[in-house]
Amino acid sequence: MIRTRFAPSPTGFLHIGGARTALFSWAYARRHAGQFILRIEDTDVARSTPEAVQAIIDGMDWLGLAHDEGPFYQMQRMDRYKAVIQQMLAAGTAYHCYTTPEELDRMREEQRAKGLKPRYDGTWRPEPGKTLPTPPAGAQPVVRFKNPLDGVVAWDDLVKGRIEIANAELDDLVIARADGTPTYNFCVVVDDWEMQISHVIRGDDHVNNTPRQINILQALGAQVPLYAHLSMILGDDGQKLSKRHGAVSVMQYDEDGYLPEAVLNYLARLGWSHGDEEVFSMAQFCEWFDLDHITPSAAQFNTEKLNWLNAHYLKQSDNERLAALVRPRLEARGVTVGDTPSLTAVIGLYKERVATLNELADAAEVFYIDIHPSAELLAQHLAPEAVPALADFIAGVRDVAWEAPAIGALIKESVGKHGLKMPKLAMPLRVLLTGQAQTPSVDAVVALFPRETVLARLAKAPQG
Ligand code: GLU
Repeated sequence: MIRTRFAPSPTGFLHIGGARTALFSWAYARRHAGQFILRIEDTDVARSTPEAVQAIIDGMDWLGLAHDEGPFYQMQRMDRYKAVIQQMLAAGTAYHCYTTPEELDRMREEQRAKGLKPRYDGTWRPEPGKTLPTPPAGAQPVVRFKNPLDGVVAWDDLVKGRIEIANAELDDLVIARADGTPTYNFCVVVDDWEMQISHVIRGDDHVNNTPRQINILQALGAQVPLYAHLSMILGDDGQKLSKRHGAVSVMQYDEDGYLPEAVLNYLARLGWSHGDEEVFSMAQFCEWFDLDHITPSAAQFNTEKLNWLNAHYLKQSDNERLAALVRPRLEARGVTVGDTPSLTAVIGLYKERVATLNELADAAEVFYIDIHPSAELLAQHLAPEAVPALADFIAGVRDVAWEAPAIGALIKESVGKHGLKMPKLAMPLRVLLTGQAQTPSVDAVVALFPRETVLARLAKAPQG
């Protein structure tokens, strides 16, 4: 049975790297008809917040990455971790250590001075035939894991290949602090074990934790999961992705006007490939996704490609759905979206020309607000010789059938009479009606407006 998990620490928003980890874990479970578990690693109480938990859940919901079990909160599982620590103390795989933080500092300084790697010296580690010091009265000990002293700990990472670490490199990890609270790596181990995780898919910033986690799992007699460590994501500029890069939070992409299916499709290709396939649904992804085709090298973010995918999915989406997504964006700008033209009709005309929902909102806005095209823009697009053609067009607007073909014919007739070409009139019409020089086919744009609005907006043109 395949069981994967996404285990974010709720200390901020769901960022794009976390979302990719979640997507890969989710898809792997889907592909194998397994389970995907959401676990909130909230033991860092100083940095974890309920808002961050909500931000993660919102991000997962927006992407549509539904979990089968959870969310489990580590803070609610403290009793369980403490019970396992007691078991390990009883079994002799963990021990009490009374070395104080000051003693540890001194120890480390001495080791550094001798050119040695700083490590706990094992004073309180029980060994056959060894007499331990007497615990100082009233002192609260930490609990340390009794790491094997020799041999290697190794795993075949499903992305990075075989990784081996000598146990001599690892000192005895503190698994419970003096106040009894379990430490980060220990909670992860107990959870992966008890949640029967088969595949740990996570960022490669956790590679260093893995040997310690495997040793503890083995001491518990637990089945060691398989590990797949994903390489990091670099920004467009090739630097490590950070706040500097702007939209690193998944919900920021929502705000910036991206569709979740575009972000998912984009993330799916960030470090994974299936031949040359670039555009695919999540259903298709879940059929294809495997761990063999994840690249061990860092993936570089490419905003242009994301925009291209988003434009593709906007084109594919039906107008009602897009209208429901654009309407609140317009309302947030204080625009009252009237009935004429219908927002769906506007979207139908513009959705092939934009890359984001926000651009769609920019295009739609001019149909519902007063516009004031600048004199410069108008002068740039309304040539003096076109003024009579514009006057003819205005005169014809009263009686023309209110549909694109008839309006198109009226434009042709108006320019034809004065021996002009279409753009001479099409351009000033665009500017006067929308304030923009670039629009879809001008007859279709004119037809979207109520006849009266067209007359009112064209009346602002300089006369003769
Ligand atoms: N909580 C860790 C993080 O947010 C992930 C731990 C794990 O996947 O094992 O980076």
